[in-house]
Amino acid sequence: MGVELYGMDFDATRGERDGGHGFTYTLLYADEARTKPIAMAEYHRCEVRTGRRQADDPEDFDAPAILPLNVPEAADWHKGRDPKFGPGPKWDLVQVEPLTISPSILCRDCGWHGFLRDGRWEPC
Ligand SMILES: [Zn+2]
Repeated sequence: MGVELYGMDFDATRGERDGGHGFTYTLLYADEARTKPIAMAEYHRCEVRTGRRQADDPEDFDAPAILPLNVPEAADWHKGRDPKFGPGPKWDLVQVEPLTISPSILCRDCGWHGFLRDGRWEPC
């Protein structure tokens, strides 16, 4: 089932790409032609996040976390959006295909931590 978040429609429960270790992701673009990556939606099994979102909004519990990229198109990413998402950190887009971003990804809710390199999740 798709959900719309930040003006983009994507899967509610898992990303388009499988990085292994229970991690999936979808690269989000600023344009319909998919030439300007702007953020990454990341999905992992996060009991803490799931529980909190279900408490806040029963319709929102499967929503992924959004990691804005350090690109010009994402400079104003946080404006007009949920304050808890911005301005906050941004990730450097090292390589689009296969996807590599930097630095590491840390879930502050459950402690899930690792790197996305060459499209694969590397736990650390
Ligand atoms: Zn988590």
